[in-house]
Amino acid sequence: MARRRFGVSLPEDLASMLDTLSERLGLDRSRLVEQAVRAFLDDYSHLLVPHQCSGVMILSCRSGAEEALARVMEEYRDIVSTRFHSHAGERCVEAVVVEGDTGRISRLHQDLERAGCRARYIPLPGDGG
Ligand SMILES: [Zn+2]
Ligand SMILES: [Zn+2]
Repeated sequence: MARRRFGVSLPEDLASMLDTLSERLGLDRSRLVEQAVRAFLDDYSHLLVPHQCSGVMILSCRSGAEEALARVMEEYRDIVSTRFHSHAGERCVEAVVVEGDTGRISRLHQDLERAGCRARYIPLPGDGG
């Protein structure tokens, strides 16, 4: 497949993590960036085409976000089923089983980020979306 070259600027800390990782894995930086972009697009492109989707939302929230998190979860009760809540260091860690249309799942994702959580949605394998 034809490849396109373009310049990208990254914050210094990300760039040096990339250097270290490419050394450890023995992959050149382009290859590594390609894999990262692919994984990112896999997560998000899933939400581009509207469909009924099932998956797991993985959350890491800063301490103090607990109340905001509870409010968001209440607001999305229609698509949130089981919640697994735990703690790692100072952070709340949560895995949430989600089932609903992708538009609503995207909004849940945004609201969680706004509430102080890093969120990652993982569609169930075989979801077909
Ligand atoms: Zn899906
Ligand atoms: Zn907590």
